[in-house]
Amino acid sequence: MKPEIATTTTTTTTRETDNLNNNTEENMGGLTPRVSKKARTEHHEQDGIPIPDFHDSDHIQLTSHPDAFGVDPVPISWGHPDPRVRGPVICTVTHSSQRNAIGAHQGSYCIYTGLAVAANKLDPNYVPDLSLTSPVFPIGPHPAWSDPKKIGSIDPFGHIVTQCYGDWLEKGWDIRPTIAVTKAHIDLPECREGVASGRLIPDGKILLPSGQSVVAKAAIEPVWYLPEIARRFQTTETHLRHSIFRMTNGMYPELITRPDIKIFLPPIGGLTIYIWGDPATIPDEDIELTCRVHDECNGSDVFGSDICTCRPYLTHAIEECIKTAQRGGCGIVIYYRKEGRSLGEVTKYLVYNTRKRQEGGDSADRYFRCTEQVAGVQDTRFQALMPDPLHFLGVTKIHNFISMSDMKYNAIVSTGIQIVNRVEIPPEMVPEDAMVEITAKVFHGYNAGKAYQGIDEEELKKTKGREYGYDKNTTASDEDGKDQA
Ligand SMILES: [Zn+2]
Repeated sequence: MKPEIATTTTTTTTRETDNLNNNTEENMGGLTPRVSKKARTEHHEQDGIPIPDFHDSDHIQLTSHPDAFGVDPVPISWGHPDPRVRGPVICTVTHSSQRNAIGAHQGSYCIYTGLAVAANKLDPNYVPDLSLTSPVFPIGPHPAWSDPKKIGSIDPFGHIVTQCYGDWLEKGWDIRPTIAVTKAHIDLPECREGVASGRLIPDGKILLPSGQSVVAKAAIEPVWYLPEIARRFQTTETHLRHSIFRMTNGMYPELITRPDIKIFLPPIGGLTIYIWGDPATIPDEDIELTCRVHDECNGSDVFGSDICTCRPYLTHAIEECIKTAQRGGCGIVIYYRKEGRSLGEVTKYLVYNTRKRQEGGDSADRYFRCTEQVAGVQDTRFQALMPDPLHFLGVTKIHNFISMSDMKYNAIVSTGIQIVNRVEIPPEMVPEDAMVEITAKVFHGYNAGKAYQGIDEEELKKTKGREYGYDKNTTASDEDGKDQA
């Protein structure tokens, strides 16, 4: 199934603009909301594509005024299988009167584009040259792309903007990809060690004798369809909008003032998909598929901190993905930027200190309570949106799922993806100090496999982590927690 490219189906509805002139020229402390007259008067030529309005970016628009932007938003019909009917996501600064999404591109990095403009290094009106950027291997389309219950937090056409909306781009529209698809060779010490010890056998194609492996990968920025996000969180769209508005100190007034704008590009981290093997086999249920969905833990993933099992789980998954690909299947690791259970690294370190300092030291029975004590909540990863990239790839069956999290397992299975086997982490890969984490998680219902069954209250209380002796005049170099003389 390929997306049908419609030629005349896109139509633009003119919103009632009678009240738009009332305060457009009203001066508000030098900030004047302005509406392009062009956008209101000219719509489309014969090809059905609206004429882009080019906003003068020197002109500040206050988004707290309901009529200040997006007076003529390009219609979006989320979930439509034809990208031309679905409509492009317009969230660039260029076409403010026709913008149909709240937020900005590039996630949290959008602030850096502001800095670049402030430093006179970036022309705010620059339109990117996308001519050589298209995906290096195809993804989709898949049936799930037209089901909002399966894809509501990413734009399934986000990697094929130039293909779907090429004639829009030619007309001067600034439409940005939210997904980029490329290839790489990756090199992990664990894989090198795996080759040296005979745990991994190089085949010269997927795994090279050096220990490098060959991957296809895709970077994805979130694009939220707010009605579906609300449904996944079992709340109303209004309550969702109000809650985000409130907890961001009003960063996005349009969440309140523009209930008709349903798309939101949130300023959060995105995700990366790594694929070993031929991505074309992913939708084939008869071909073995191994998968891990990993939430970022920079301290362990990159720097090898031994307080948790994150990097061991990740590298174990990568080895299993390589082996699956070598058997003719496919391996997928989805890497989510959800640092510190999406509470961030500062909160995470505060929790570490609380864990180590508390009465009785770091202990598995108080593992979750410490996070709650510091953050007010144990976990804000909420796996409800997590399966979307799997549906983007056309996954319907996972043969080997490498995770101990029931939350992840249940989230995936509840969207209709079948999981056959759950693969446990080999106990020898768990660092000693991470026993607190794994014991606490297993006691609270995580599934770590046979090696960690039967953890009772006594075991939970018994499992202690390393002591640093923070409050005994120690210094940062006192890494083994020994008292200093
Ligand atoms: Zn970790």
